[in-house]
Amino acid sequence: MLRRHLLKLSAGVPAVFSALSSLGAFGRQDETTRRPIVVSTWDHGQAANEAAWKILVNNGRAVDSAEAGVRVTEADPSVSTVGFGGFPDRDGKVTLDACIQDETGNCGSVAFLQHVKHPVSVARKVMEETPHVMLVGEGALQFALEQGFKKENLLTEKARKAWDAWLEKAEYKPVINIENHDTIGLLALDAQGRMGGACTTSGAAFKMHGRVGDSPLIGAGLFVDGEVGAACATGMGELVIKTVGSHLVVELMYQGHSPRSACEQAVRRIAAKLPDYKDFQVGFLALNRKGQYGAFCIQPGFTYAVRSGELNRLSRSDSLL
Ligand code: ASP
Repeated sequence: MLRRHLLKLSAGVPAVFSALSSLGAFGRQDETTRRPIVVSTWDHGQAANEAAWKILVNNGRAVDSAEAGVRVTEADPSVSTVGFGGFPDRDGKVTLDACIQDETGNCGSVAFLQHVKHPVSVARKVMEETPHVMLVGEGALQFALEQGFKKENLLTEKARKAWDAWLEKAEYKPVINIENHDTIGLLALDAQGRMGGACTTSGAAFKMHGRVGDSPLIGAGLFVDGEVGAACATGMGELVIKTVGSHLVVELMYQGHSPRSACEQAVRRIAAKLPDYKDFQVGFLALNRKGQYGAFCIQPGFTYAVRSGELNRLSRSDSLL
């Protein structure tokens, strides 16, 4: 009797949440539905979206558009936080983290990978060619070479000079909104309603050798639930890992929050749990199955790019501080 009552109660929960959410109980909700659509983090998201959009507009699959989009950022030597041209760790080594996830929840990831320009494509191979989700370090490099990826020097002159300058004091201090570009996380919903996402980074500049952030961790830097929505994170990865940020955002959307409200709640969770949050930036970006999107961050300064049909814009996220 009691069990039946509880089951009845819990069956009513999603209905209550969706009623509350349509009343705006969980914050501003953009009710416009858009498909296909791609959203991605920071100013450099615009160029990534452009490449992703070409696939989406030709009826392509969301996960393919996500990979193609972030590859643009990985290859761009002017972006000092992703792929080729990324700032090195404190030992002068460029070490990369990336992951990818499709509409079925299938995913692949690499971490602490050196010498390969497109870690997201290695992550995709892990997803499709191995029984595993994640490969790291030497093992990831060995796998990449076996798969035909080229071994390259990823340390550009600009990055080497920045490292030289850093060595003078060798003081490790994360810089908030470094040069306004950071990890790229990209989320897509294709014309057929499939979702996909990718996240790729060189991580925190001058990090300890071997440090891995949130970006390659499914649930932390990226999470895609094809039935609900997708989320990605940027900023100080340690804070995101401690709160399993992207999974939390998607779970909040499942409970009825709008993408923007879900991102805000996840930032508030960080603020409630981690006393030093004011010293760091974390930004979340989310997209739901209807093509509604939103973002929220700790510090002002986080931007995200949106592309859908005629809509092609760079927006500034609301912030906690
Ligand atoms: N989240 C990334 C990391 O902690 C870096 C960033 O987005 O700034 O490795």
